[in-house]
Amino acid sequence: MQILLATGNKKKRAEFERLFAPLGVELLGVPAAGLPDTVEDRPDFAGNAEKKAREAALAFGVWTLADDSGLSVDALGGAPGVHSARFAGEHGDDAANNAKLLTELAAVGATEPADRAAHFTCALCLCRPDGSVALAVEGEAHGQILDAPRGDRDFGYDPLFLFTEPGFAETGRGFAELEPAGKAAVSHRGRALALLAEGLEGRLKRKP
Ligand code: IMP
Repeated sequence: MQILLATGNKKKRAEFERLFAPLGVELLGVPAAGLPDTVEDRPDFAGNAEKKAREAALAFGVWTLADDSGLSVDALGGAPGVHSARFAGEHGDDAANNAKLLTELAAVGATEPADRAAHFTCALCLCRPDGSVALAVEGEAHGQILDAPRGDRDFGYDPLFLFTEPGFAETGRGFAELEPAGKAAVSHRGRALALLAEGLEGRLKRKP
């Protein structure tokens, strides 16, 4: 089976390649014509992932996988949510996004750890060549927003995210403090990928 991954992000591509290799799924490169310029205007991650997957599947007539992810903070009514990449402006600057997050939490008086609950979400959607949805999964990772950056690994909001779900080796660690394998074991993306692998395996087995 061949699947087009609708992202230009090399890190994400490598992650999916590792996942798909044992399943015998070949990941297609981005076509020379480039991916459709999908407007991510859906109210949730699943809606945006589906829109991206459908538009690329229809454009190229192949099985297509797309993702959408971000951070939701309870005290901010779920913001930055689907606007995570562009929270502080169209530039997509991680440092500016993190600074804005701290300013907004201070503005609503969320100073105690208990007031700073947050979670990451990763939605993945696999569409058939005709644009219909074959598989849609979602992973979440729960924690709280730190009052100052911790750790220097990875990207985005990781330096401000403390993983607090009980019972894991990673509990009480910042996402930016974790080794890639440790983060993948509990992260929204790692969990969504595991669900995707399970779903794909089931599909592939059902075929004669
Ligand atoms: P996208 O799914 O590539 O559009 O990512 C949306 C935005 O969410 C990123 O630019 C980051 O700001 C944030 N984000 C998504 N996943 C993570 C993560 O694992 N760590 C930190 N930030 C993330």
